[in-house]
Amino acid sequence: VGAIFHGALGLAVGFSAYIISLWHRFAKFENWVHGPVAEPTYLGGMFDDISFRIHRLRQRSRKRKKRMSELLRRWQDSSGSLPDATVVINTNGTIAWFNLTASSMLGLKPSDTGQHITNLIRNPRFVHFIREADYTEHMEIPSPLDVSKVLNVRLSAYGNKQHLLLVSDVTHLRRLMTMRRDFIANVSHELRTPLTVILGYLESLKDEESLDQDDIKQYMDRLEPSAKRMKSLVEDLLMLSSLDTDAPASVESSEVVNVAGMVRNICAEAEQLSGGRHEFHCNIDKGLKIRGVDKEIYSAFMNLVSNAVRYTPDGTRVEILWQEDGDGAKFCINDNGPGIQPEHIPRLTERFYRVDVGRSRQTGGTGLGLAIVKQVLRRHDATLEIHSRVGQGASFCCHFPAARLEGEEQQPQSNVTYL
Ligand code: ADP
Repeated sequence: VGAIFHGALGLAVGFSAYIISLWHRFAKFENWVHGPVAEPTYLGGMFDDISFRIHRLRQRSRKRKKRMSELLRRWQDSSGSLPDATVVINTNGTIAWFNLTASSMLGLKPSDTGQHITNLIRNPRFVHFIREADYTEHMEIPSPLDVSKVLNVRLSAYGNKQHLLLVSDVTHLRRLMTMRRDFIANVSHELRTPLTVILGYLESLKDEESLDQDDIKQYMDRLEPSAKRMKSLVEDLLMLSSLDTDAPASVESSEVVNVAGMVRNICAEAEQLSGGRHEFHCNIDKGLKIRGVDKEIYSAFMNLVSNAVRYTPDGTRVEILWQEDGDGAKFCINDNGPGIQPEHIPRLTERFYRVDVGRSRQTGGTGLGLAIVKQVLRRHDATLEIHSRVGQGASFCCHFPAARLEGEEQQPQSNVTYL
């Protein structure tokens, strides 16, 4: 009996010790499970196996989490750099999320999350648009931050019954479309007048029974100015169109233009154009050459010279300069004619903008001369500066940057004055 008792006691003690050790290891294991992700714990027996498997699962989950947050960060970065404002809107119309562009374009702040979008953008047409939530439609509204800007707004389905609001700035596009419409209206208007004159004479020619040589000459003389006007207009339009569309050549691939020789010819042509009515002074730096397109530069300079002749009265002194200018070169036409009122100056290079339409047409102007000058200069990285004082004259200067100067062939400066 004693032996059985001692055996049972030993078994009970051993079993209790095992239970206590198990309980102890279990407590340690629980601590390990709830603690930070660490190496597997080695508690012996089945614990090691379980701890190893849990550790593997935790490592995988940690990697997945890292990948997800990296993906989320990348998506937030790319959506932030999108040119369009993007706003996720819940079914009830409240803001769930928006990108960085939405902050700058619509003025949304982080605290606006959870707010109703129509409380922040109150344009009635926009409110109606959000209520209708028609994904096939898009609309334009003035920017809530700057009414001079036009925003295009679209909605599309997103996530779980949410909407994605996409807003893009179409101000530039609108402006281009308005410019195109005005341009077509102007061209049509400019062509209609000479065409009406020509058609009028053709009609009366039809009714003439017999025409002698003198009559025919008279008709021709009357038809010619209108035909010439149309020709100049078409030529200027073609010139502008090629300046607008042809890619400008790089400085390195451009030809070297002997501007001094060109300006000398221009001075001679100016005298011819004026027919002795103006007094010309030409000051040319003979060694100054630039890289560019000969034909374009000639056309720009000739337009400026022709304006000085056409818009100034007899006896006006016109100065034509081709000189070094700081670190570049400048071509200037200065006159002491009637000048231009300051409010017109910023608009002179606009297509078809004229101070005095009658005088421009009468002298063969198309209203495109300075627009051509501006485009030619843009293609040569050059700028146009206009200064004028009413009653004292006008000055038009084209500044070419140093990068356009052709250095090697420069000769010591020697100025030639043509009177
Ligand atoms: P246009 O082909 O009608 O001459 P431009 O674009 O060349 O048109 O010139 C625009 C306007 O600038 C002209 O209508 C004219 O009123 C004004 N202008 C240009 N040059 C001068 C000048 N030297 N003096 C006074 N006005 C000028």
